[in-house]
This record gives sequence, C-alpha cells and structure tokens, in this order.
Amino acid sequence: MNRFVYLDNNATTKVDGEVLTAMLPFLEQNYGNASSLYAFGKDVKKEIEKARKNVAKLLGANSKEIIFTSGASESNVTAIMSAVKTNPNKRHIITTSVEHASIMETMRHLESCGYNITYLPVDASGKISLQQLESEITGQTLLICVMAANNEIGNIYPIKEIGEIARKHNCLFHCDAVQAVGKIPINVELMNIDTLSLSGHKIHAPKGIGVLYKKDSINFEPLIYGHQERERRGGTENVAGIVALGKAAELILEDDFKSVNQIESLRNLLEKNISSKINGFTVYGDTQNRLANTSSIGFEGVNAQELMFLLERDGFLVSTGSACNSSSPEPSHVLVACGADITNYSPIRVSLSKYTTRQEIEDFTESLAKNINKLRKN
Ligand code: PLP
Repeated sequence: MNRFVYLDNNATTKVDGEVLTAMLPFLEQNYGNASSLYAFGKDVKKEIEKARKNVAKLLGANSKEIIFTSGASESNVTAIMSAVKTNPNKRHIITTSVEHASIMETMRHLESCGYNITYLPVDASGKISLQQLESEITGQTLLICVMAANNEIGNIYPIKEIGEIARKHNCLFHCDAVQAVGKIPINVELMNIDTLSLSGHKIHAPKGIGVLYKKDSINFEPLIYGHQERERRGGTENVAGIVALGKAAELILEDDFKSVNQIESLRNLLEKNISSKINGFTVYGDTQNRLANTSSIGFEGVNAQELMFLLERDGFLVSTGSACNSSSPEPSHVLVACGADITNYSPIRVSLSKYTTRQEIEDFTESLAKNINKLRKN
C-alpha cells in the first residue's frame, strides 16, 4: 500500500524516529553481548542500565525492580506463574472477563490444573464493581489481576482502589498496563501494584521488547531461568530493543501527556463528525472514563469486517476488535462480556496516536459515511 492512514494504534504503533536513531547503533556498531567482560560488552551494559532507569522513572519504580522481557505476553505469564509458584498453599485468583488473551489463556491453563479462577463480570459499559471484587476474596485468594486499560473499548479501571483492596486482604496485585502506559499516569508505589506489564510496541518502540515490574519486596520465581536480569529472566539481552524502550520512556516523560490532550481532541472530533454524518451507531465502553485515543463503534446493520475492507480500499486501517481477535471468527470476548448487541452493531475499533492529524480524521469520517451508506443500500 503506497499511502495509508493508520488508525489501529492499540494493535501496534510506529517506531518513533528518535527511538530508531537511538537503537540503530546497537545493531550496527555496538553489537556486543552485555555479559562480556571486555569494554565492547560493558559499554552496552551501561546503556541497558540507562534504559532501565528511564523505565523505572516512568513507573515510579526503582531500577532494580525492572526486568526486561520479550513483550507483555511474557511479562503477564511470568507474573501470574510466579504468584502461583510462590504461594503453593493458595488456589484462588480473581481477574476480570475483559483481560487480554495472554492473561485469559494463562487463567484457563491454571483452571485445568485445579485452580479456582473468578472472572469478574462487567456491566454494559465494561465497568467492574469494586464491592463485588472485594466480596470475592477468600483466604485462598493469592492474586488479583486487573488491567489498567482495555485494548478494545479503552476503559480505564480503578487501579489505585484495587491496589488498596489487594493490600488490605494480603493478596498480590498484578496489573497489565500495556494500553495505559503513556496515556494515563501510572505509579506502582501510589497504586500498590506488585507486578506490572508493559510492551514496547504500544509506545513507539519496536516489537519484541517488554518489561515486567516486580516490587522488590515480593517473592519471585522466573519463567525463563538463566543468569541475565539478576537471575530473574534468562536469555541474552535484546540490547537494541531495550535501548529503544528506554528512549520511548524518556520521550513519554518529556511529553508529560501533552500529546494525549491533542489525541483526545481528535478522537472527540471523530465521534462528533460521526454523530453529525451517520445515523444509527453506538459507542462501546465507558465513555466517561476511557483512553483518550480509543473509540469502539458499532453501526446499525453494518458488518464490521465488510466495513473494514472498504475502509482499507480507501487507505484507512482500523480493526474489528483486538488485533488478536480480528483474524478469528469468534466475537470479541470483551463485547460479549458487556452484553453488547454485536450482531446488529458489530464494532470497529479506531485507535489514534500522536501522529494522527486533524485532516486524517476529517478524511476518515468522509470515507466512513460513504462506505456505511453503500453497505446499508446493499
Ligand atoms: N496486554 C494488552 C492489554 C495488550 O493490548 C497486548 C497486545 O495487544 C498485550 C498484553 C500483549 O503484548 P505483547 O504484544 O507485547 O505480547
């Protein structure tokens, strides 16, 4: 495709030019192994520690609490399995029915091993009830696992309050913060988070690099054994990826959420344009407390997949749900959990980034209105 407008930033993001410039020397010239004892390796190690410091600062953590991984899926599985292995006498976990597949599938695996998993339901707008969460805790509960923000509908969850509940009942708290980092403030100390995941490719760094934050004071068991990352994650370090993630964290800190305001005004413009040009639509999720960049919308009588292909022909890239689900004929588990009428209002997800322009949103809504008219006539 020659020219396209990318509106699927919850699936992945473009690598920032400054991030690319920072990482390239670690592929071309400084390609040493960080564990080597000569300077060619030691210099690389220094850069890894610099990146670790930036990520720690972004999360309000201590550098030694940051573990580099291959991505958030690995971080999520590591955190959950570590909680299980370090609490052999407890057999109950509380999570939500709208988590990412890497959490959901780990929970299903644990269920098959005899663990008792509570999947908190959500209301029509995707919200959970804190009272219900607290009432589900028993003496057997070892872990509470709730995402900071949802990848499909953009809902922001009350992480600080959940952290307080977890601490009060002496449970571990794992938070998948992949979609939240860079979009809302996250502070692991203030939010009482024990373990947290983030992913490079959602914040303008490349794919294949992520972070697991682990509170220093909690017990830990690795998923991948080895000497790197202070014995907490084996495997030769992805130096270029780590440097890139460090740079991406630095850029988020520098930006201080300024671009989030700009993104939010464009997302609001998108929804305003839709309401003035198109009849019969519904915006999914908690529109009062959502990520600034996300809009999940269903159009009455319009098949989202057909709409997505017509939009692609006009050069606009959106998804029909989460990236992992869009190739599957199964309906989105998030919208099913919300009890949404996805047969009559099947959803497209539009997710913006700091690179999205006003003109792109204006052009996109024109194409959207045209293609919806076309599909409805058919
Ligand atoms: N958690 C959430 C909420 C996500 O949106 C994603 C990616 O889609 C992941 C976890 C997995 O991240 P990664 O691609 O780094 O494994």
